[in-house]
Amino acid sequence: MPLAVDVRKLARRITSRVGRRGSEYVGRWQSIKMEALERDDHACRRCGKTREEIGKEPDVNHLIPVRAFDDPQEAHRLLNVVCLCPSCHSTVEHQAEVSGLEK
Ligand SMILES: [Zn+2]
Repeated sequence: MPLAVDVRKLARRITSRVGRRGSEYVGRWQSIKMEALERDDHACRRCGKTREEIGKEPDVNHLIPVRAFDDPQEAHRLLNVVCLCPSCHSTVEHQAEVSGLEK
């Protein structure tokens, strides 16, 4: 019965999506991350440290946090990400917490 096969296939697809942890970081995240690194010349946008000075690729930080979006994929846009070195990243995250993330 072709219909039964389709349903089983669909169910398996849904299960594998829901079952995977951290699913908000799949999809377009990897490619946005690469685009952001290229746009920012692999350097921190806040202090200007380069990949060589940091010793690794800078972190790619969301300006508006992923959790603020109904659909996490909406957060993964080039306009909403910025490259930061680990120390600026933690400073920025701390400031965001202090200011209470105004909408
Ligand atoms: Zn920095």
